Amino acid sequence: MRLKDKVCVVTGGTRGIGHAIVEKFLEEGAQVIFFGSRKETVDKALKDFQEKYDQVEGAYPNLMDPASVQAEMDRIAEKYGRIDVLANNAGVADDTSIYDYDGEKFSKILDLNVKGVFNPILAVVPHMKKQGGGAIISTSSMVSKYGQPAGVAYPTSKFAVNGLTISLARELGPDHIRVNAVAPGVTNTDMMKQVPKEMMEPIIQKIPLRRIGEPEDIAKAYAFLASDEASYISGEILQMDGAMLV
Ligand code: NAD
Repeated sequence: MRLKDKVCVVTGGTRGIGHAIVEKFLEEGAQVIFFGSRKETVDKALKDFQEKYDQVEGAYPNLMDPASVQAEMDRIAEKYGRIDVLANNAGVADDTSIYDYDGEKFSKILDLNVKGVFNPILAVVPHMKKQGGGAIISTSSMVSKYGQPAGVAYPTSKFAVNGLTISLARELGPDHIRVNAVAPGVTNTDMMKQVPKEMMEPIIQKIPLRRIGEPEDIAKAYAFLASDEASYISGEILQMDGAMLV
């Protein structure tokens, strides 16, 4: 129960890694408010979580709209009295060739993966400062170390997540707000389930731990970084890729 009664907001909590983070936080005793993009997917995930846990609710502010996110964060802070943890997990992947890109496509990825991380941070830090501290964790990616051979907006966005993380750890440290990121490698979410087995084998052979990551692996790191066990860890980008070399 490392997160007992901590008020935790998780973006992109309806499926994949975010779903596992919400479950892990609930298992650790947190009050969780998770965000999704649409009412239908939020309601579906909420029903699923509520089969085992009571301390959970869902919401669907527009992460790209600062006013929408601010209103939701203010509502949460008003209702629960504080916000201890922000888990910025929502994100979209991309594999468009540079020859097929246009500015609109590039901006769309950046809008969710960077502004969708920045806006929740902007909305939550006044509450965290007022209450005397908090923890912010964002989902980066192994591509923030290596880049990737197509879909350049995606690694660009994840390098930006690292930049936000390292810089805000310095700026917010004096307010006792820790800022970290987790950088998963290939992780078993809906996206990966569509990859045929014969394509997965060569990928697995590049991973020294000889398996792809599970959302639960990533969620464990989130719980640790959100908890007081990580009280002196800030500005860290935690690689979780099974030591994969690309
Ligand atoms: P997923 O597609 O299963 O889940 C994405 C989540 O983001 C969903 O909960 C969805 O509601 C939310 N989301 C998507 N578009 C949104 C929008 N416009 N507004 C609000 N929310 C939106 O993906 P996943 O694999 O679980 O990815 C979660 C995070 O992990 C992402 O930031 C992704 O970049 C990162 N990541 C994934 C992998 C991987 O191999 N799966 C590897 C490295 C990093």
